[in-house]
Amino acid sequence: MHDLVIRGGTVVDGTGAVRRTADVAVNGGRISEVGKLGGPGRREIDADGLLVLPGWVDIHTHYDGQATWDPLLTPSSWHGVTTAVFGNCGVGFAPLRPGTEGYLINLMEGVEDIPGSVLAEGIDFRWQSFPEYLDVLAATPRVMDVAAQVPHGALRFYVMGERGADHAAQPSDAEIQRMGALLEEALHAGALGFTTSRTTKHVTADGRPTPSLSAAEPELAGIAAAMARAGKGVIECNSDLEAGELELLCQAARRAGRPLSILLLQMDGVPERWRETLAGIHAANRAGLDVVGQVGCRPIGILMGLETSVHPFATHPAWLAMSDLSPSERYRRLCVDESLRQRLVEERPDDEQTARMAYALTRSYELGDPPDYEPDPTTNIAARADAAGRDRWAFALELLMKEQGQALLLYPFENYYEGNLDIVRRMLLDAHTVCGLGDGGAHVATICDASYPTFLLAHWARDRARGERLPLEFLVRKQTRDSAFSYGLRDRGVLAPGYRADINVVDFAELGVTKPKLQYDLPAGGRRLVQRSTGYRHTFVAGVEVARDGTHTGQLPGVLVRGAQPGPGARASRLDAPA
Ligand SMILES: [Zn+2]
Repeated sequence: MHDLVIRGGTVVDGTGAVRRTADVAVNGGRISEVGKLGGPGRREIDADGLLVLPGWVDIHTHYDGQATWDPLLTPSSWHGVTTAVFGNCGVGFAPLRPGTEGYLINLMEGVEDIPGSVLAEGIDFRWQSFPEYLDVLAATPRVMDVAAQVPHGALRFYVMGERGADHAAQPSDAEIQRMGALLEEALHAGALGFTTSRTTKHVTADGRPTPSLSAAEPELAGIAAAMARAGKGVIECNSDLEAGELELLCQAARRAGRPLSILLLQMDGVPERWRETLAGIHAANRAGLDVVGQVGCRPIGILMGLETSVHPFATHPAWLAMSDLSPSERYRRLCVDESLRQRLVEERPDDEQTARMAYALTRSYELGDPPDYEPDPTTNIAARADAAGRDRWAFALELLMKEQGQALLLYPFENYYEGNLDIVRRMLLDAHTVCGLGDGGAHVATICDASYPTFLLAHWARDRARGERLPLEFLVRKQTRDSAFSYGLRDRGVLAPGYRADINVVDFAELGVTKPKLQYDLPAGGRRLVQRSTGYRHTFVAGVEVARDGTHTGQLPGVLVRGAQPGPGARASRLDAPA
């Protein structure tokens, strides 16, 4: 008798192998057999006509804070994610010197747009060292497995104090030693990696660049030496990859003898740079390093609504004058006060934000239901306004006021320079990329991309109309085996005997993302954009059903993953061809 048998489904096993009809048996939280099974299960699921897939492994989230208060880790758990890795991009909350929570909150608020009030109210800082933080995570039941990484920002601030917040301040030799020792301790306790940030996009809430922005060679060498001593961990970095930076990171990876995971995306300002970065990744792999690019599967899009963080009128004095009103009061005022609407449109402030928005309107789209993430460029706000002989700003305001003021515009500011997703397809197809970048738990009132895994399948294997699609088997592998293996998690991401029974059962015809909407359900009444899914019939974590037809079952089998995991995939290469 098996614990569970998922019978007769279309199994896409995560290796890239061609789909096949098979039964999947689960015993003791692991997959025991895949094929034609005779014996019954204590629980049987009829998966006829449904896809049976490994659970999604999302290596790029920012649930560092949320994981301490929200056992459900939404939105990710609504999208079939069964393992989430956080601590990315150099920001997080450990190690922590008591009394300095404010700085780490300020950094997370600025870099990842998670309101400081939410973090301050939501997190019970019961740790100082990174191992203590891991113990707190391990003691908290939750719906999925999580793994944490050591953020450079927190490590630097812990060791260097206030100086550490200044990216131009160089650590002394003793401080470099200390950072290395703490990192080594964290890796031995189960940290999955070390993360850093070199992007000028990242600034603290009070306007200072991210502390690791310009960390120099001696500091990175000290960190790499610690990773080499530990023999553990992945280096993750968010970078604009200016000249020389990839080389600097590769040098650290070489010294550490560890894999490097960097973000690969197209920036509007330098739309060709991703090609150089990808060429650099290839060169590094040829030279014997293990370097992957984390890629998205749709434009990285800012969602603009009257109550989101970014919208065309956000810095207008007449808008700011209403900041004491509730969202519904503001909306009502807009409706009844024509002169206010006129002032917003005609007396725009002469500031940087408004200039940015003038450009944004030429690349933004009204978001429909279901949302279209590959919109035709001729339907952007400016083009539609121009065609109608309307003022662009007046037209934008009118759109934002739709749906009782809840309407959203999509501003794809990265990965959409050409007005289609052909380059994203190129990025996905590359052998040295894995799916990442969803930023679950972050940018809560700006971006809502934790739904990537759902979109990945629905758009690329089924819906795409403006260009070529991609094979389902290939896409599944990209978000399961490949992403898991890139972090040394050799025990998951594949449906084969011995692997963890993290499984999604999906009605592919129904699979999709809903229109994002803003809600106020974070600690301290904080707002966030949420996006639900359709089509997930069952999600299992270690053989335990955590969601059925989009509803959480109440089960919380998720654990803290401490470090890389051995498993049946231990000897496979990330680059192996499908069986
Ligand atoms: Zn990030």
